[in-house]
Order: sequence, then C-alpha cells, then structure tokens
Amino acid sequence: MKKVVKFGGSSLASAEQFKKVGRIIRQDASRRYVVPSAPGKRYAGDIKVTDMLYSCYLMAIREEDEEESFDGLLAEIKARYDEIIQGLGLSLDLSGEFRTIRENFTRKIGRDYAASRGEYLNGMVMAAYLGYEFIDAAEVIFFKADGSFDSKKTDKILSERLKDCGRAVIPGFYGSMPDRKIKTFSRGGSDVTGSIVARAIHADMYENWTDVSGFLVADPRIVKNPKPIDIITYRELRELAYMGASVLHEDAIFPVRKEGIPINIRNTNAPEDKGTLIVEATCRTPRFTITGIAGKKDFASVTIEKDMMNSQVGFCHKVLGVFADNDISIEHMPSGIDTLTVFVHQDEFEEKEQDVIAGIHRAVEPDFVELESDLALIAVVGRGMRATRGTSGRIFSALAHANVNVKMIDQGSSELNIIIGVRNHDFDTAVRAIYDIFVTTQI
Ligand code: ASP
Repeated sequence: MKKVVKFGGSSLASAEQFKKVGRIIRQDASRRYVVPSAPGKRYAGDIKVTDMLYSCYLMAIREEDEEESFDGLLAEIKARYDEIIQGLGLSLDLSGEFRTIRENFTRKIGRDYAASRGEYLNGMVMAAYLGYEFIDAAEVIFFKADGSFDSKKTDKILSERLKDCGRAVIPGFYGSMPDRKIKTFSRGGSDVTGSIVARAIHADMYENWTDVSGFLVADPRIVKNPKPIDIITYRELRELAYMGASVLHEDAIFPVRKEGIPINIRNTNAPEDKGTLIVEATCRTPRFTITGIAGKKDFASVTIEKDMMNSQVGFCHKVLGVFADNDISIEHMPSGIDTLTVFVHQDEFEEKEQDVIAGIHRAVEPDFVELESDLALIAVVGRGMRATRGTSGRIFSALAHANVNVKMIDQGSSELNIIIGVRNHDFDTAVRAIYDIFVTTQI
C-alpha cells in the first residue's frame, strides 16, 4: 500500500503543527511520499511565508535604497523556519540556503523562484524531521516552454526517480522550465503536486491534509453546522468547486482522476475524522438526495426577445458571437419560445454592456433586450437526484415557502445538478431553505 500525503500551510505553520503531522505520518507506514506546502498562518491575521516571499522579492527588485528592508524581511522569513527547526529539536542550519536566496533575489531571478522557496525550505525541514529523502521538485516536476505543465515528461522522470526510493519529501507548488528556471503553479498549487506524485507512483490513495474535515454540504457561513460530505464523485466536486466551494485546487483532480486514485481530504487538527473521500464512481447510496449546495452572487442577465426566434436558424449562434467578440464568458443560457437569457458575471459585463446591446441589435434585430443585475446562481448537486423523483419540486416548494422568487432554473441533462437563479439578497435564505428540505428534514 502506497499513499501520498500532502500537508497544507496551516498544518505546517509551527513546530506544534509539524509534530501533529509527524504523528500522522508515523501512524501509517504506507504514508511514504510527503508533499509539504510552505508554512501558513499560525493565527488569524498572521502572514503566510509565501506572501512574505512575494513582498520580499518585490522589495529586492526595486531601487537600491530599499535593500535594507528587503534584508529585514528575509531575516523575518528565516526566523519563521528557525523557530520551527528549534521547536523540533533539529540541528538543521538554513543559513547557506538563505545566502543563496539573497544572492538570487539581488540577481532578480524571478518572482516564481522567490515564492517557491517557501515549499523548498519547508521540504528540507520536513525531510530532516522525518528522516526521509529530500527531492527538489525542480528535478522532477516540469513545465513546457509555454508555461503549461508537462505531464508526460514529469510522469516519466518522477516515476523513474521514485521507483527505488521508499520514502521521500517532494516540496509542492513548483517545478522547472526547459531553461531550468523555476515556475510555480497558481496559488494553492501544492495540491496539484500531490496529485502528480500520486499518479506517478500509482498510489492507492492521495491524502490531502488541511484544517477542515473535508467538504460540507453547504457553506458554514450561511448554514449553521452543515453536515460533512462523506463521499463525493470527481464530477460532483467539479460542479461544486466551479460554483465556489473551495478546499482543493481545481487542477488537483485531473492527474489522479486519470488513474482512478481516490483523494481523501483530512484534518490535521482532527485526524480521527474520516474526512471526505473523492472518487471516480461509487455505488454507495448518498446519505441525502443532494450531495452539496454551492453558489455565487453578482451575475447579470441579458434577456433577448423576438417573435418567432425559435424558427430562425443560427439565432443563438449570432447572439453568442456578440458575447465572444466582447470577450465575455457566459455562465448559463436558459431559453423560452421567443426569449433567450444569457447569464454573465456582472463585473465583467458592466463596462461593455452598451457594446453588447448594440451588437445584439445589429446581429439579430430583437424586439427588445432587457437587463437585470444583482442576481445569484445556486447549484444543487447530487448523483442521488437521478434516482429520485420530485427533487426539483421539493426545491421550488421550499423556496416558495421561504418567500424566494426564482428567476431562472437550469437542469443539466446529466441530472447531476440543478442551477437556480435568485436575487442576490435572497441568496442566503434560498441556500438555507434548500439545505433544510434535504438535510435537516432528511427525506
Ligand atoms: N504556498 C503556496 C500558496 O500559498 C502554495 C500552496 O500552499 O499550495 O499558494
């Protein structure tokens, strides 16, 4: 049995947290490949080491007279590591590493290099603490010259490198370009590294340890004490993540999904909790009809009305062309016999609205165009909905009882999700009403 275990920044923010991580790893001999993030926040209001490194590099590349503060901040970053090293009773000395980092900063080596040092150094500390081999991610994770991830090369070299290596620490978040320059994934990218390592070694499980016990059925800022999600499919997760439920980096799903490796989201501060298991497919019956609810506010809708619209060939195509020409992406597009509504992000749309209206008039000569703003979209997601009759009926009666006016309904043909449009100010009430009808009453 082989497991890849990734630990997020809050799990590695202090020596105390490192000790919890050490206990978790030692408890299960199959936890053989460890992917650490950089030290995160120790308390609310603290600063992540990655953010300190970004600021420090910015100071370094500015004028000479800023040099003093750049050194000051670099010393603060070193102090963060030294505190962990001392707290763990290790004899590791990072002074040489920090001298190299300082030199490279003065040479203006690159912002990504700067940010990556957070994981690089934390990887060294972790390897020393566990007695595992340290493998610099620059040697095994690769990007192409255009900046995209080179999955083929990485998989080949990484699996080769790990073949005879029983236990290793591979820092998350970065890799190297063909010219050896360091490049990072987008923020939160250590999740992606973990997934890549899991794929390369054909892991039985990718455990992603963070500071929550997995996904919750609804946002706890809206619903009080929402139930956890025990098991969720990759597809359901994609739907929920797109609508704002975030625990895992979006791109972390793809490498393991290809191999059918499950991801287990776990809580470093509550290791006895089972967390959420993310799988390709499952025949386990979901606890509730729905798996989760997520949503986003601040959409605008553009409704286009024209008599006999449906009989005009290419009508939608022309309308969509106007949005594409204005570089606006479309969220949803419910339609009626003579109407078509397009949902867009309000902030993206606002400055271009008049160009879009004029474009639509030119393209399809509508009877009229109507705009509405301050709308929210709610996604109700669940593989269990397919087998259950009356799901949408229950959603709408719950919303009616809660006095929420439904502006739009869109059910994908996969029956995996139902998207509901409401006014921004009804958003929280609507989410609570849907949660209550499916989870609190538990029918
Ligand atoms: N340390 C990086 C960040 O703060 C990457 C990560 O934590 O996954 O975004």
